[in-house]
Amino acid sequence: MNKLIIHQFECLSDNYGVLIHDSETNQTASIDAPDAVVIKRELKEKNWNLTHILVTHKHLDHIGGIDDLKKYYNPFVIGPKYEEESIEFLDKTVLDQEFFDFSNRPVKVIHTPGHTLGHIIYWIENDNVLFAGDTIFAMGCGRVFEGSHDQMLDSLNKIKELPENTIVYCGHEYTIANGKFALSIEPNNKNLCSRIEYVKELRSENKPTLPTTIKTELDTNPFLRTDSLEIKKNLDLLNSDSKKIFSALRTKKDNF
Ligand code: ZN
Ligand code: FE
Repeated sequence: MNKLIIHQFECLSDNYGVLIHDSETNQTASIDAPDAVVIKRELKEKNWNLTHILVTHKHLDHIGGIDDLKKYYNPFVIGPKYEEESIEFLDKTVLDQEFFDFSNRPVKVIHTPGHTLGHIIYWIENDNVLFAGDTIFAMGCGRVFEGSHDQMLDSLNKIKELPENTIVYCGHEYTIANGKFALSIEPNNKNLCSRIEYVKELRSENKPTLPTTIKTELDTNPFLRTDSLEIKKNLDLLNSDSKKIFSALRTKKDNF
């Protein structure tokens, strides 16, 4: 089977739009729909027809473009059952651990509550790619708006279990701010220091710092590193479990 072509572009102020396209079947899906005008422009540039939208969660910066795109292309819209009341135009709702087909390959749905209670992410093993919405970011994780800190930690642990070389697309370009926080809490992490140099360079040239990989996040993302001795020491929580460490990190980042 051929690999999906993945096209990422900026939307709104700091969102990413992502289109995935199979040149054999000519099917194209948009991961979320932050901005219909920009997504239409990118589709036209590529000469792709929108056949699907895969929704991660109900926030407006992820669903605001569905209405327009639905009218224009009539794509098949898939989204979380848990948030069906809040998301219009869903043709199919999906649950945790469920599989559905996109262009002849299985897509696995993983429920990752925390940022919102119904948030889901999409893993396509065939193409080694994860669409993570606002659950994980480069060196960061989503703000916990609806769930508990424990729920968010469980959700991130599900991501940790995926193959390390999985390519991860995220909803936002928050990398520089996340990196600053990560550095404040783990300044002696060499991988982190060199990554920050690299992403600063990318941003100074206006280039995206995403996608990332599970491996890169395991090495540099404090929210996946609750067993780092340096992080524990800096939080003054040497003898605490990962739940306490995660919660302290999330609270500290919220006030950073
Ligand atoms: Zn969100
Ligand atoms: Fe968002």
